[in-house]
Amino acid sequence: MKKVGFIGWRGMVGSVLINRMLKKKDFNNINAIFFSTSQYGEYINHFNIKNKNIKLENAYDFEKLFELDIIVTCQGSEYTNKIYFKLRQIGWNGYWIDAASNLRTLEDAVIILDPVNLEHIQQKLNMGVKTFVGGNCTVSLMLMALGGLFKNNLVDWISVSTYQAASGAGAKFMKELILQMQYISKNITNLIKKNSFNDNILSIEQEISKQMYSSKFPKNYFHVPLINNVIPWIDKKINNSGQTKEEWKGQFETNKILNTTKIIPIDGLCVRVATLRSHSQSFTIKLNKNLSIDNIHYLINSHNKWIKIISNNFDDTINYLTPSFINGKLDILVGRIKKLNIDKNCFSIFSVGDQLLWGASEPLRRMLKLLI
Ligand code: NAP
Repeated sequence: MKKVGFIGWRGMVGSVLINRMLKKKDFNNINAIFFSTSQYGEYINHFNIKNKNIKLENAYDFEKLFELDIIVTCQGSEYTNKIYFKLRQIGWNGYWIDAASNLRTLEDAVIILDPVNLEHIQQKLNMGVKTFVGGNCTVSLMLMALGGLFKNNLVDWISVSTYQAASGAGAKFMKELILQMQYISKNITNLIKKNSFNDNILSIEQEISKQMYSSKFPKNYFHVPLINNVIPWIDKKINNSGQTKEEWKGQFETNKILNTTKIIPIDGLCVRVATLRSHSQSFTIKLNKNLSIDNIHYLINSHNKWIKIISNNFDDTINYLTPSFINGKLDILVGRIKKLNIDKNCFSIFSVGDQLLWGASEPLRRMLKLLI
């Protein structure tokens, strides 16, 4: 059995990955070894894998890492930077599967999303490539939603606005949003209890706005309130382009995953919103043909089994086309599909998907399966 090391398994992405692997009984076919950057030496038993306590190994121990056939890391870019290059330098020749972004730009690394680029992955495997990286969450979710259009070479360009959940930034950020909810709720309890709740709604709003900017308000990670707010900036600035790194990834990663010979332009704004889990995206898409809505539905729907089209009506949209509905599900929901007044080849589409599943852990799990 292949020796597979797991690093970053207790974070957002890692824990979703482990749960999926347990559900699919993937641990039956590997010899799993668990590492930690902070808790090594401790024993854990909560995975109940083969009913035994598991000792956590030191994620910085190069000797232990060197013994592995496959490394799966959901730890983050800092860890990858510290370990990956040195491990390769000292001759480790195993498979590296990573959720972090920093290896995605390497020429000899493949961005994995097998329902979209299985053929490309297999070609690279045959060529001896050993580094496989999950894509950016919004990019993977977009490709799962729009794969049918890309596959048929129909896309001229895409403009996108994202609505990204707090958990997309990691466990500490998600916890901070919950603390922000708690802080506001605690501080307005008396105002809500008053009989005059309906009359004093604007004074409650004023009080909330005041509390959001009080010195005790929890904002160590987001730096500003996310509750009752949106933050139209994710990740660092890209020099001179006006884009953020998150926005830059849209075009770069999509074209790398699709292995395009001519770049498909993709750009837009990435926005953090006060949801806990699952990302939403609003697309304007220019096709190179004037296709009917029925045709667009057909092409999108027939691409993969996880796509579900939500009818463009009020009830279905508000009940299903939302991040809260899709949480914890592998389905990718798309809706609000309509032609736009702007141009006969342009249409709108809104998608929701769980970024911790198809946007992060599921492509890694499936890559691991492909290797074993
Ligand atoms: P995370 O939740 O912050 O977890 C990363 C690591 O932080 C954990 O494995 C754990 O490592 C440590 N940690 C410290 N305090 C923790 C706490 N209170 N709870 C849980 N873990 C804690 O990060 P993540 O969101 O899973 O992201 C991991 C990588 O995947 C990143 O590179 C990220 O960019 C990428 N990614 C994330 C998403 C997403 O939606 N979150 C989507 C796509 C890609 P130790 O056990 O070693 O201490």
